[in-house]
Amino acid sequence: MQASDTGSSSNGDIVGKEDMQAAVFYGPNSISVERAPSPFLQGRPALEVKSCAVCGYDVRVFRNGHRKVSPPVILGHEICGQATENIDVRGGVRIRKGSRVALYPIVPCLACQYCHAGQYNMCTDLQEIGSTLDGGFAQYVGVPEQTIKIGGLVQVPDGLSDEEASLLEPLACCLNGIYQMGPFAAPARPAVIIGDGPVGLLHLQLFKNLVGARTAVVGRVQSRMHKARSMGADAVLEYGDDDDDVVAAAVLDFTGKTGAGSVVIAVGSPAAFDLAVKVAGKNSKISLFAGMPGAQRFSFDANWLHYNQVSVMGAFSSVPGRLEEAARLAKEGIVDLSQIVTHRYSLAEVEKAIHTAETYSGLRAVINKF
Ligand SMILES: [Zn+2]
Ligand SMILES: [Zn+2]
Repeated sequence: MQASDTGSSSNGDIVGKEDMQAAVFYGPNSISVERAPSPFLQGRPALEVKSCAVCGYDVRVFRNGHRKVSPPVILGHEICGQATENIDVRGGVRIRKGSRVALYPIVPCLACQYCHAGQYNMCTDLQEIGSTLDGGFAQYVGVPEQTIKIGGLVQVPDGLSDEEASLLEPLACCLNGIYQMGPFAAPARPAVIIGDGPVGLLHLQLFKNLVGARTAVVGRVQSRMHKARSMGADAVLEYGDDDDDVVAAAVLDFTGKTGAGSVVIAVGSPAAFDLAVKVAGKNSKISLFAGMPGAQRFSFDANWLHYNQVSVMGAFSSVPGRLEEAARLAKEGIVDLSQIVTHRYSLAEVEKAIHTAETYSGLRAVINKF
């Protein structure tokens, strides 16, 4: 990106700026880094994007499209941005020009029963930044009115880098999943996380450092499994395609034969559900965190569910309060986000970043403003 493309004049003022550099998604396997209209044209507050991480969702949309995505649109919803003007958000909080924020990507209708209850991720008529609305694979991202009303801009603590801050959004989603599964008895029963990707390892940190549970990770990528060990997993088990029973037996051994109290499915693979059912104990909770291939169905024995009082639950996105909590946990070192970022790219390299994400190289790939 050339200096003249940044859109900032010498005093840093961006008023009057009409276009920007952006990676525009045009449909499956088609993304173009080009000039695009900037959010300033719509007269809305905007953030200058400092970092935007590549999520598995971005990979799926890029490869296959998605029923809710109408191209052309700019993807990217894990965003750390810098305010280009003072923005007054809910609760009399002023985000000052130049300060860094994490952006809550759900844009709720504010009219449905879920919105009235503050459950914006359950809104019946929601929009999403980086999916149905232009997102963070660009120089600037607009801040919708609803985002301001619900406190969807969260100040980034000083100690966090831009790229770490881009991961506050997925961390907030993991927190949402964890709270769906709680409250946890003390001492917490063993937890099992199926999936060794970024989301699996964020869950690992939360189960270890927040819940205080012995935690096993079931994975299949050596480098990620190694990382799980270094992050304090009490057991790391490998699974292939046909050895479900072998892994299930090993996981049950880990739980002292009684089965896990919590099982998180953090990989979009149908086989993960079968494994979860085999390793979940009585009074346990299974959280389906990962999105699955379209029209995926699962089956299990209804009496197993009944007699063992197992709960199977979903988890999707989060709410602004979780994003605030994510910022606090990262600031206090309860979660170390720096370990999750492994690859860095410029906006022009967005396809390379997507490729890195889909080939399970490292953990999170991040698009940085250099
Ligand atoms: Zn994401
Ligand atoms: Zn709503």
